[in-house]
Amino acid sequence: MFDLKKYRKKSPWILHYNAGSCNGCDIEILACLSPKYDLERFGVINTGNPKQSDIFLVTGPVTFRTRERLVELYTQMPEPKVVIAVGSCACTGCVFRDMYNVEVGIDRYIPVDVYVPGCASSPELIIDGVVKGLEILEQKTKEMEKPFKLFKEATTDDGIVNRRHSALKVGEDDAKD
Ligand code: SF4
Repeated sequence: MFDLKKYRKKSPWILHYNAGSCNGCDIEILACLSPKYDLERFGVINTGNPKQSDIFLVTGPVTFRTRERLVELYTQMPEPKVVIAVGSCACTGCVFRDMYNVEVGIDRYIPVDVYVPGCASSPELIIDGVVKGLEILEQKTKEMEKPFKLFKEATTDDGIVNRRHSALKVGEDDAKD
């Protein structure tokens, strides 16, 4: 039987976005994809299409010009997805924090799952971050695939049956009771 969960973990596609970085961290990401560090051994492909990506690698402290693009790319990625902040700039803003044209790290705008520190981050740290991201991606996939069950009667809104608010993921209902 075709098991999407298995293949998603074995072949995650990444989207790399520079949200105002000095290019130092971006070069390290590209080094990860070279034969020396061989990030592709985990099945990773660097794609330019957010609609086909599972992992969002972001560098840079988020400038005023890039913040809208950052949010737009994030929202275009399908669930489940993982965001990895690469470099101290993406984590906190680093030395550019609170400058006139810069924000304070990407988690002001989008949720971050993994923080990879360093200026610039080393390829080893980035690879560790991606491996951690794969574990989180697997966990999020399982969460999404938990079956739903009704815990109270469905209602009708303007004649349309509405079951969304009456459903809980299995395992969550104990806390509710
Ligand atoms: S963390 Fe350092 S190398 Fe990376 S984008 Fe910021 S200043 Fe450049």
